[in-house]
This record gives sequence, structure tokens and C-alpha cells, in this order.
Amino acid sequence: MKPAITVKDLYVSYHGSEALHNINFSIEQGKMYGIIGPNGAGKSTLLKAILELIPRDKGEIHLLEKPLREIRKKIAYVPQRNDIDWTFPINVLDTVILGTYPELGLLRRPKKHHKDWAFHCLEKVGMESFYKRQIGELSGGQQQRIFLARALAQKAELFCLDEPFVGIDVTSEEMIVAILQELRNLGKTILVVHHDLSKADSYFNELMLLNKELIQIGSVSEVLKPDVMMKAYESQLPFLQMKRGAI
Ligand code: ADP
Ligand code: MG
Repeated sequence: MKPAITVKDLYVSYHGSEALHNINFSIEQGKMYGIIGPNGAGKSTLLKAILELIPRDKGEIHLLEKPLREIRKKIAYVPQRNDIDWTFPINVLDTVILGTYPELGLLRRPKKHHKDWAFHCLEKVGMESFYKRQIGELSGGQQQRIFLARALAQKAELFCLDEPFVGIDVTSEEMIVAILQELRNLGKTILVVHHDLSKADSYFNELMLLNKELIQIGSVSEVLKPDVMMKAYESQLPFLQMKRGAI
């Protein structure tokens, strides 16, 4: 097996309050993984810690068998919607061109072939006719497609997406899933934070169930078992029962 991500003894806390506790796992390249777990389980924190966007208290992380600093250009990240400043004045094409910076370098002006490549990536997500629009003017689904185009422009090996399907239309969701599956079939590794359990079995090869600790990692059928799921969602049960009772 060729490891895509190896995490050993990972601990993360915010101002002394623990968000991730003793996380250990290794996942293989060429598969699509879902990270599931209740609100506040540390799903976003796990992605950010893996990408060293936040400091960790402890732990060793290897991506594609290397430390992040040696492989950063090969990792694409699409943050959770509310982590993005949508009022930032930038148009669609320039947003996608940002994805070419690992090749271009931050201080150089993009050349025609960078623009052409970015445009091609926009075509791939069906958004080429919007290339001059400001990103803030687009719908949620369109914005998510632009961020996927930016990840494609980066020619990454590992794609990390945080709740990409939240607040988007069905067409955008289907298109994004199809592109991610195509990337997976080309041998890329895809990691998606996801909370809609109903689609988990059709979207992912394997699941990681998180609630501060890694509760289970394995095939969809291994993870979506009631006794396993209960361990993560237990604290939400009174709320779920109350909702059911209210119907
Ligand atoms: P999830 O993505 O699974 O909903 P998060 O990783 O966002 O969970 O959050 C995990 C825990 O860490 C939560 O209790 C959350 O309130 C806390 N947390 C997340 N980000 C911060 C932050 N920037 N500062 C302080 N606490 C945070
Ligand atoms: Mg989150």
C-alpha cells in the first residue's frame, strides 16, 4: 500500500481546550475518503492540522510519505464555506489562476498558458461563461465549483475538501462528485468532510468517524453500523429523539 496520509499521536487544542485527542491512522492513495462525525467533532480541525494551517500540540504527520513542507504544492484544500471571505474583490478566472501559483510562484505574473489552463479548469466544472464575475456574486454551488476548478488548476495529488456540498444545488453536487470520482480513478487521493450520512455509501470508498477521537476508520459498512455510530452521536441522541417526538 502507498500511504497518502499517515498521522501518529495527533493532539490539537484551542486555548487549552482539546479538539483532537490521540489520532492515529494511515490511509492509502487512490481512494476517496469521507470524514464524518457530529458538529464540533473536530473534522475541520483535523483537515487544518494535517495541512498545518493550525498548530498541533503533538503528533507526526506525513503526506504522500513526506513532511508537508516538501509536498505542499501537491495538496489542494477547499475550506468550509464560512471560512472563506466571499466579499473579497476577485473575479472567477483570477481565483482559479491562484491555483496555478505552485508552478507560477507568487511574484510572477501569470502567462497566457496559465490563463488558458485556468480557463480549461473552469470548463471542466461548467463555469467558463462566468469567468469575469466576482466570486461574491455567484450562488453557493457555483462558488464551490470555482474552488474545485482552483484545486484542479493546482494539479494536486491530494485533495482535501471541507463540507463541499453544504448549501449547494443538486446539479453542482452531482458535478463535483463526478469530478472527484474521476480524479480518484486517476489515482488521486480525495478527503472530504461530509455530514450527510445518507449519501456516504455511494460517495466514498472508506469512512473516518470522528468525535474528538478517531472512533472508527474502515469500509462504509464497517463504519455505518448502529453500535459504531452510536459512539459518536450518543450526545446528540436526546435532541434527535426530541425532534422525532415532535413530528
Ligand atoms: P467540526 O468541523 O467537526 O464541526 P471543528 O473542527 O470546527 O468541528 O471544531 C472542533 C472543536 O474545536 C469545537 O468544539 C469548536 O468549537 C472548537 N474550535 C474550532 N475552531 C476553533 C477556534 N478557532 N478557536 C477556538 N475553538 C475552536
Ligand atoms: Mg467543520
